[in-house]
Amino acid sequence: MNASFMESMKKRFISLLDEMDSTIESIVESPISMASGGDEVDQWSVERDNHMALRIGDRAITYRKKLLQGLQKISDGTYGKCEECDCEIPASRLMARPTADFCVPCKEQAERLEFKKTTKHLTLL
Ligand SMILES: [Zn+2]
Repeated sequence: MNASFMESMKKRFISLLDEMDSTIESIVESPISMASGGDEVDQWSVERDNHMALRIGDRAITYRKKLLQGLQKISDGTYGKCEECDCEIPASRLMARPTADFCVPCKEQAERLEFKKTTKHLTLL
């Protein structure tokens, strides 16, 4: 992986981190709305909004952690290496998915295993 690619990925991570920070901030700062009075539809939509905000916040926090890990990897010089087989993850994949930890074959393998796990109980029926 060449240095200028690393440098551009680093910038990408930092701008994504900024984005996540402002997403998280906007959720934290928006007061949790309370369903006071109103009819059932109002209460339901307030609950749904709160739930949505929490889900978006959760995902932003998880993604933020991944971004920090990625930045750490860049400074360690291990960024772009597949965690499973140690090969170099193609730059095109990293550009599409900066936080990718695995190369495509390993990722597919992991997904197949996951699929087997989740469908196992179905075959037992
Ligand atoms: Zn791999």
